[in-house]
Amino acid sequence: MARKRRIGIMGGTFDPIHYGHLVTAERARGDYELDQVLFLPSGTPPHKPLDQVTDVKHRYMMTVLATLTNPYFEVSRVDIDREGKSYTIDTLRILKSIYPESELFFITGADAILEIMSWKNPERLLELSEFIAATRPGFCLENSSQQVVEWFKRNNKRLHLLQVPAMAISSTDIRSRVAQGQSIRYLVPEVVEHYIKKNRLYHSQHPDREGCDE
Ligand code: NAP
Repeated sequence: MARKRRIGIMGGTFDPIHYGHLVTAERARGDYELDQVLFLPSGTPPHKPLDQVTDVKHRYMMTVLATLTNPYFEVSRVDIDREGKSYTIDTLRILKSIYPESELFFITGADAILEIMSWKNPERLLELSEFIAATRPGFCLENSSQQVVEWFKRNNKRLHLLQVPAMAISSTDIRSRVAQGQSIRYLVPEVVEHYIKKNRLYHSQHPDREGCDE
């Protein structure tokens, strides 16, 4: 029987995209033998006030620029072009209809995956896709609630943890470094660094991101 195509779905706000995200996607591609990784910048993140997220046109552009040189990476507008909040269950239903014969692997931060699964119908989510939860250094599943630990163990065929040391880099830290005039060199691809500078993103006065400082 022919092997099914395996597609990684890298969901995130990417505000901004950084090397931690890129290393996560590349690691997942290797470990799970993915044929392709689609990056999906979220349009309207379900759990964040809109005025705390940079305009999607910038987040999309930075994601395109950052992924340009990897032939396995592509950027999808699935979460951008549809109305309303980007609930992952809807994203996966759409992607399953576009790629009915493929196996999907949704990749994102472990905290976000716990949040997604806390919404209704986690069984359906796990039917539509396997999930790869990227963790930062120091993450220990056993520190989570008993319920979460058991749930991970019960679903360990479809739900995986991926430790990514490069996820020590964080978008929050990058935004705050820019706001304070500190260097972000080697945290993001050079082209993203230039894009941030050119568009004056993450400076406290930037009109696209009023009140962004956390
Ligand atoms: P977030 O709350 O901003 O991020 C949670 C953590 O995960 C952060 O530490 C973040 O680090 C990290 N992270 C985010 N995307 C990642 C990725 N692709 N790979 C590795 N780590 C990642 O989460 P978010 O970015 O808004 O959402 C992540 C995905 O989950 C999106 O596709 C979103 O639509 C989905 N989501 C869905 C629901 C739902 O359906 N109810 C709820 C929440 C999230 P950085 O800040 O450095 O990126």
